[in-house]
Amino acid sequence: MKLSELFGPTLRKAPTNAETKSYQLMARGGYIRAADNGNFVTLPLATRSLNKLRARIRHEMESRGGQEIGAHANIAQLASGNIQSYKELPQILYSFDETEQEAHPRLGLFGAAHSPSISIHVLAESEETQIKFQKMVASIIEDFFDKLDLDAKETDCGGKAFIAENAGVDYIHCTQCDYLDTQEFARRSKSALSAEDARELEKVVTPDAHTIEALATLLNIPKEKTAKAVFMTATIDGEEKLVFAILRGDMDLSEAKLISALKASDLRPATDSEISAVGAVPGYASPVGIKGVLVIVDDLIPQSTNLVAGANEAGFHLRNVNYERDYTANIVTDLALAKAGDNCPKCNSPLVAAEGIELVGTSPAQPADDATYTDENGKGQPTWVSSWTVDLGRIFAAVAESHNDKYGMILPPTIAPYDIHLVWLPSKKIDTRSDAEDIYLNLTNTGFTVLFDDRDARAGTKFNDADLIGCPVRITVGERTLEEDSVEIKMRAENDKALIEIDDIANYVLENL
Ligand SMILES: [Zn+2]
Repeated sequence: MKLSELFGPTLRKAPTNAETKSYQLMARGGYIRAADNGNFVTLPLATRSLNKLRARIRHEMESRGGQEIGAHANIAQLASGNIQSYKELPQILYSFDETEQEAHPRLGLFGAAHSPSISIHVLAESEETQIKFQKMVASIIEDFFDKLDLDAKETDCGGKAFIAENAGVDYIHCTQCDYLDTQEFARRSKSALSAEDARELEKVVTPDAHTIEALATLLNIPKEKTAKAVFMTATIDGEEKLVFAILRGDMDLSEAKLISALKASDLRPATDSEISAVGAVPGYASPVGIKGVLVIVDDLIPQSTNLVAGANEAGFHLRNVNYERDYTANIVTDLALAKAGDNCPKCNSPLVAAEGIELVGTSPAQPADDATYTDENGKGQPTWVSSWTVDLGRIFAAVAESHNDKYGMILPPTIAPYDIHLVWLPSKKIDTRSDAEDIYLNLTNTGFTVLFDDRDARAGTKFNDADLIGCPVRITVGERTLEEDSVEIKMRAENDKALIEIDDIANYVLENL
């Protein structure tokens, strides 16, 4: 490809709203441009890079028995219509799709409204086979990240995420054991207070104690000894339901965990009138004595004895409220929001906050009730299904974030749009152009992909653009080196330059690429 004909110039300055390093670098390198509604256009350079990634994944999938299907399949439906017998399982299907997300245009490809991605699905006859194939898919993804020299971390739910400044999503990380998850779903270590015998309920006067802080101060008890009730209205199966979520007073509710536990489609804080309608009193409410409400408690609550909770009467609380004896819940599960400073659920070290972005999402293996097959004994069995989404756009941005210097991107060969950036330096004394053309043709015929800077421009301009675009190898053809039948070769990732005879260029590049 001749640079004089390439669509999409490099830019002297990044767009003023570009908040992430990857957006700045990719815009300046002539890889991406912002479009309407939070979309990004991948220019020819980025499109080549993404196609390279697709080709690599396709090769890996096909070599391990994967088969490509068209985009956006409802996989259970597809399995249900096309798999009858155990003999037709297992199957690995994959497709090149686009993921949609809420747009954050200032983040570049981390926040693009639409992002190129790969979906991978494993269909299997049993959990055991699922696990075997899941390991295989995980190793394909692991190899892929290794090739990109990308330090993506495994998340608690088995996906992969990349930690970077301004990456847009709050994560909780343990620097000791590398535990990582989004803040909304991260777990934290929870320790029950020392066990006590359950004491009798006792009503106490607590005027103006509308908050946990005021209550704890008034009664001179730690917040750990209180129960916090959070009232939400959830939409479940199309119907609005009032929900009491109960946590220990020193913990905050993760609404994402609550939505997930309730399988709710929507969640909002309940209004005072909704709370009053069930006989509870805002500021003094608890599930004690309340009926007709969905109660969901954090899993630490059943281990916490003699808590102070609302008395459902203005100005009063109850001491010694105990789960099971005084009230029960429809659901007991982890509801607590993990925060920096809480302890790691795996190794108990303090957790830290970080910003990150999900690169690979997974949905866990489960039997699909609506997709069945007939087993060896003629019995109908559910097909086990698991899925992955690998976000190529975000992966590209993550590589840009982690492979750069102050001059531009330093792309690994696996993702670079071209192997070689060939710089021709015009000369008034000798014809350097025809030598450069020859070298370009030779390298291309040898199988290298070459971006040939054939523009009649200053050396400084050309070198700056080569650095911005970030191909792994830069070859410079100029008067000084041609006098010695040589070219100058510089690897983008290194500072040293080598003088290499023209006949040895291909070998040198092969050895160093
Ligand atoms: Zn840890």
